[in-house]
Amino acid sequence: MSIIKTFDVVIIGAGGAGLRAAVEIPKEYSCAVLSKVFPPRSHTGTAQGGVCAALGNMEEDSPENHVFDTIKGSDYLGDQDKIEIMCYDAVRAIIELEHMGLPFSRNAEGKIAQRKFGGHTKPVDPNEPFGKRVPVDRACYSADRTGHVMLQTLYENCIKNSVNFFSEYFVTEIIIENGICKGVVAFDISTGEIIIFHSKVVMVATGGYGRVYRITSNAHVGTGDGTALIYNAGLPLEDMEFYQFHPTGLWRLGILVSEAARGEGGILKNKDGERFMARYAPSVMDLAPRDMVSRAIITEIREGRGIKGSDGTDYVFLDVSHLGKKIIDEKLPEITGFARTYLGVEPTKEPIPIQPTAHYAMGGIPTNENCEVFLNETGDIVKGLYAAGECACVSVHGANRLGTNSLLDLVVFGRRGGKAINKFLQSVELSGINRDAADKSKYAMQNILEKSGNEKVYAIRTELQESMMDFCGIFRNENDLKKMVDKIKELKEKYKNISVQDKGKIFNTDLVEALELDNLISNAESTVYGALNRKESRGAHDREDFPARDDVNWLKHTFISKNGGQEPVIKYKPVTITKYQPMERKY
Ligand SMILES: Cc1cc2nc3c(=O)[nH]c(=O)nc-3n(C[C@H](O)[C@H](O)[C@H](O)COP(=O)(O)OP(=O)(O)OC[C@H]3O[C@@H](n4cnc5c(N)ncnc54)[C@H](O)[C@@H]3O)c2cc1C
Repeated sequence: MSIIKTFDVVIIGAGGAGLRAAVEIPKEYSCAVLSKVFPPRSHTGTAQGGVCAALGNMEEDSPENHVFDTIKGSDYLGDQDKIEIMCYDAVRAIIELEHMGLPFSRNAEGKIAQRKFGGHTKPVDPNEPFGKRVPVDRACYSADRTGHVMLQTLYENCIKNSVNFFSEYFVTEIIIENGICKGVVAFDISTGEIIIFHSKVVMVATGGYGRVYRITSNAHVGTGDGTALIYNAGLPLEDMEFYQFHPTGLWRLGILVSEAARGEGGILKNKDGERFMARYAPSVMDLAPRDMVSRAIITEIREGRGIKGSDGTDYVFLDVSHLGKKIIDEKLPEITGFARTYLGVEPTKEPIPIQPTAHYAMGGIPTNENCEVFLNETGDIVKGLYAAGECACVSVHGANRLGTNSLLDLVVFGRRGGKAINKFLQSVELSGINRDAADKSKYAMQNILEKSGNEKVYAIRTELQESMMDFCGIFRNENDLKKMVDKIKELKEKYKNISVQDKGKIFNTDLVEALELDNLISNAESTVYGALNRKESRGAHDREDFPARDDVNWLKHTFISKNGGQEPVIKYKPVTITKYQPMERKY
């Protein structure tokens, strides 16, 4: 029998989404936040560039501009009612963070400073919203450490709010019975002890799954455990085929060089020193949305205008040297430091070699605007189960997220989820739970420890990551995607024959990595089947064999779910359109 701990609310994940929700839970309710890493080490802490809101501190702007940009950026797949909620709530959310103590950078007037970011624009003539648009200063920031200070601020506020933290606890299962969520199973990484967290409410806030790709900006913990747990529980995931590559990762390493570098005036150049974005997006150039810039970089490389690196792979340049040392040191200290440390490049004097890097999951656990998780595409919900942040799909990012809209998503929907949970707690009783609820996880872990096969976890993971880059990356086609489907089947077979070296209980990171690999494979599966199924190009999903967007057949959300040992099942949900009918997406 397992140890049972009981709380009103259990939140899986101590990133921005989980912590913002936890801040909202009143002290009279007990709230536990579980994290597989020490909370402030969550990936939110690495966010660099900013969090956007139409404050209009530097120049005129409006929430409606933000709404339109987000819809257009999403390639019209985002649900417009949810996008309106997010963009109109953004201004309040930023002021709230400021009052919580977040140290934003300031402009000359002492107001929160703002800078430009890809796809954030305003019309040149306010009476012509669909006419020519130019980049606008909308991203609020704290140098290039915005996520770091946001996470610290939220963590401090959680401590003040008496939130119970379970640091280095790994969740292996979400307990759902008859459409009701009853808690989670987790193990304490430091002791190996398995514990049932019995609760009235569970919120999944486990972040993204960038580690499914070899070149990624995501931290090692970004293995998409939450999305995989939901998928493996038989619930659907939404729009998993839309995976964003950020244009500027450090060459070969994938470490992010924030779009803030281009927001401050950085320029992309090919081997001839040409500012090539002028050919792809004449009006906004280097500040086009990420899907477009990433495709442009790969096109430059494919057409022979990349720069060949020492290992034969190609890159292009991001040049910030003309900005001058003062701006670089004040506004971009962190990312230019990375270029110095990891590539030995001096950004004040020379351009930085970059390549696109796997960055952000637009898809995830489907929720409504109050973070309640959908049981199916018809809108039924799982009682007591919530999701927020990168692992969730509200959907406000549609087929392509705009930079700085993720941190905003965390604080807007994290708070909304927290408020919805409060309301739910007022009328719900703790439902009964079986004392053997942890058995499945226990046997699965025991099974991994007892295995003595020849396959190694790191080798399967590397094969998965390499093949996802090759067959399900920025450009996709049926041939490659089918190869990836076969690869996943092959890797699942190999996984059955793994063995881990460490058979102990204390800090068994071998076991953690084996569990994470299983989750990565599940995320790759839902991504690839979604990508193979969607026969159009939209946002980050670019099918070379179906190069056009097809609103007649594909203006709809994918709901993919597991089907025992068979191929996954795909259903659809309509996109909510309020004001903006789909138009051609040109910049
Ligand atoms: C390098 C980088 C820079 C970025 N810059 C920006 C930016 O400037 N602006 C912007 O808007 N967005 C940015 N993004 C995107 C944004 O930061 C992320 O989408 C967002 O922070 C994700 O937050 P989250 O709360 O959903 O999850 P995370 O911050 O990833 O946190 C996930 C949490 O879940 C926990 N967890 C996961 N699995 C388990 C498990 N099995 N058991 C227990 N706990 C678990 C982890 O321990 C962690 O606490 C950036 C992303 C990266 C990678």
